[in-house]
Amino acid sequence: MAFSDPFELNYSKVRAYLTCPFLYKYVYLDRKYPPHTPFSSLGISVHRALARYHSGAREKRGIGDLLSAYDDSWHHQGFATPQQTLEFYRDGRRILENYWRAAGAGDGTMFTEKDFDFPFERWRVRGTIDRVDRLPDGKGCAIIDYKMGFEKRTREALAGDLQLSIYAIGLGRNFGLEVRELSWMMLIQGERISVPYDPSGEEKVLALLRETGEKLLALDLSRKGDCASCQIRKFCPDSEAGQDTPGH
Ligand code: SF4
Repeated sequence: MAFSDPFELNYSKVRAYLTCPFLYKYVYLDRKYPPHTPFSSLGISVHRALARYHSGAREKRGIGDLLSAYDDSWHHQGFATPQQTLEFYRDGRRILENYWRAAGAGDGTMFTEKDFDFPFERWRVRGTIDRVDRLPDGKGCAIIDYKMGFEKRTREALAGDLQLSIYAIGLGRNFGLEVRELSWMMLIQGERISVPYDPSGEEKVLALLRETGEKLLALDLSRKGDCASCQIRKFCPDSEAGQDTPGH
């Protein structure tokens, strides 16, 4: 990833800036990031396992194949003790078992970890999509983003989700695919939330990318996010919550 290239836009970078310009600076310019936590490591392991599983041979889509992909994908960092590692590892197995029961072999899967990259005015917009499925009627496709499910999510939020809207534009521009559905696969719950994709919002999404891209180029640090609830408040030199307030 071109961390410091202000002409490259991706969802994570835009989201960081929209959350707080100093978060963008911390991660993409200063190239710092807080250490892994058990939750972030579990998320990495599960995402990697699903990508490995769905990109494997079609005849290797049993639950044993998925759990084997999980073992091969396990991310060891971020755990305080071997006991904690074991507890989270078991949680991950349960999550994947739920997923497999709900999603099965995923026979409609067209792509996993699908990269896109399209020019947009002064910028390049890039991203990687967890999964793209062919719709059962053969007309168009669905974008699926895996969410661990630690937070409650609604269909209304999905319909206006910036990340998946950028992905839909990317699939259309790069591959000529017609996106007709957006989905969050809620892994802990083993549920899929889906909404029809409405392309009429694309201009608004591109306008937000343009506006944010201009602010990144100008390194506009004229506002701060909510330090009290910020994920990096313990590490951020610009935090207004103080750097020595763990647990707050
Ligand atoms: S702690 Fe505050 S200033 Fe620092 S990144 Fe978070 S919201 Fe921004």
